[in-house]
Amino acid sequence: MEKTTSKADSTPRFPIALLSADIVERIAAGEVIERPASVVRELIENALDAGASTIRIELREGGIRLIRVGDDGLGIPADELTLAASPHATSKVRQPADLDRVTTLGFRGEALASVAAIAQLRLVSSTDDRGVAAVLTLAPATAPARGFEPRPRGTTVTVRDLFHSVPARHAMLHGPRGEERLALSVIRGYALSHPMVRFTVVADGVVVLQTPGNGIEGVVGTIYGTDVARALQSFGPEPLEGGTFRGWVAPRAFTQTDRAHVLLCINGRPVRNRSLLTAVESGYRPLLRKGRHPILIAKLDLDPAMIDVNIHPAKAEVLVQAERTYTTAIREAIHTTLGRAPAQPTPTFPQRIGLYRSARQYPLPLGRHRRGTRLAEPRPLYPATDYGAAHPAEWSIPPLEPLGQLDLALIVATTADGQLYLVDQHRAHERLLYEELNREAPSPPSLDVPGDSASDCSPDQHGQLLLEPLVVELLPRQAEVLASRLDELATLGLACEPFGGTTFLVRSLPTVSGAAAGPAGFAGALAADAAEDAPDWRDHFRISLACRAALRRGQPLSLAEQRTLLADLRTATVSAICPHGSPIFVRYSQAFFTRLFEW
Ligand code: ADP
Ligand code: MG
Repeated sequence: MEKTTSKADSTPRFPIALLSADIVERIAAGEVIERPASVVRELIENALDAGASTIRIELREGGIRLIRVGDDGLGIPADELTLAASPHATSKVRQPADLDRVTTLGFRGEALASVAAIAQLRLVSSTDDRGVAAVLTLAPATAPARGFEPRPRGTTVTVRDLFHSVPARHAMLHGPRGEERLALSVIRGYALSHPMVRFTVVADGVVVLQTPGNGIEGVVGTIYGTDVARALQSFGPEPLEGGTFRGWVAPRAFTQTDRAHVLLCINGRPVRNRSLLTAVESGYRPLLRKGRHPILIAKLDLDPAMIDVNIHPAKAEVLVQAERTYTTAIREAIHTTLGRAPAQPTPTFPQRIGLYRSARQYPLPLGRHRRGTRLAEPRPLYPATDYGAAHPAEWSIPPLEPLGQLDLALIVATTADGQLYLVDQHRAHERLLYEELNREAPSPPSLDVPGDSASDCSPDQHGQLLLEPLVVELLPRQAEVLASRLDELATLGLACEPFGGTTFLVRSLPTVSGAAAGPAGFAGALAADAAEDAPDWRDHFRISLACRAALRRGQPLSLAEQRTLLADLRTATVSAICPHGSPIFVRYSQAFFTRLFEW
């Protein structure tokens, strides 16, 4: 076989050795192998640690019958094969201090041994391209078998009949479908975290995933479809203390009903970390409808000394030192990026991405649907750079020239290059007022992120005194909440005083610069919003204020007024989504018309 210059060539390797007792003691003990997905995770990690650039994964019956992972990594020397499958034997950690700076995905020397204890394990590995690989077969209560067979450099690990000898554990498994789903979700996480590695997955003889190994757009394209890959927005790389942060998020039109497509990857490892995931979620939550989650990949590359992966037996949880330093940056990057991505006209989108129900429901490549149309591909989809995908131009809105109003609700506008924008006048204005209110009293976008103190109202936001106080009647529970917030509300411009029972007198109302409607008409509603029993009531209060003070639909606007509104919208931090999470505008590209009119 031809000599390659893969990553494996430059991956350093120490001989496999048994860990000393003091290191073994420090290792998080627990169940390493729970189900096929855990075997898949361990074998993929071993392949990646070996510098593989191609990884082929085969599953039969969801991995219960068979899991086979083959790689083109640096291989295991024949005389170390037995050691590789022994407990606490590893080539990755040599002294206790190494555990504080783990640079590899594996470090415990336990995975292969744990697999050999509960399944049949067959290792075939070669360290050079002479074509001869050593073979070792192990099974519970059976003598090891050794041999040789042809194979170029790399390793193939085959695991058969998981938990066959442990019926109690076997009974805990889901059926083949369920196990396959879990295994595929693990594989997708690694494929997205390692976009320069080619992953091929074959389930019961069918290729269910094949990533091109040439960058993030390629992986996203194969997993979620080319539309998503094309619309992907990147953020970062942003330098953070001890590392960098970067990521990708698909616009709102591709949101999902579960969090399964929100991936946090730390040092090449898909992981869970509660506070970082909360930061990720608080970045997108205010921009999406309740119950919706984006397709999002957030990558942190940190100094290994700053993270502790040795806290969870399956290495799924990771401790990050000083995580608080990252949460704000993460939240803001996601919020701004997603907030600028436009809502696209619906006809270009698949309504649903069904890939989690079954491996065989991956969306077809878009080309299949489009056959017969003359739509030109505007640019190569998969540029061959690590993550350096050429993204569509920034999503900030281009200069817009209004043509007029549609139904007194939408501003119809064009760009110099012939795109058409329909802008919801109410939502655009509401967004501007909301951002203005936030500037006066800055607050995190939403959600209670640990450490974000709730006392972020500014005392210098003045209200407008009313000549005649307004009488407001509340429900008993609201009255109780409102009574506890009177001081804080006064600083927000809403001065209320108790007037017996559940009645309050409103003496001043918040001023909203640029408001289209005075707040007097909605004093009662505002007081009710201010009495909302929720941790993020301040934000809701501002949203409600912006909404009620904003231009209505049905309001005629002169061209000059439309132009000003559009120009102001371009300055908004989040220009595409109103504070309630609905689209402000839709955009139709020229390509869209080309297709529609079959030009
Ligand atoms: P760990 O990954 O924690 O070291 P494992 O039990 O997973 O422990 O693997 C034991 C050792 O076997 C590894 O340290 C490595 O040297 C070797 N090994 C396992 N899988 C591979 C592979 N695919 N390619 C090269 N070496 C491997
Ligand atoms: Mg390992």
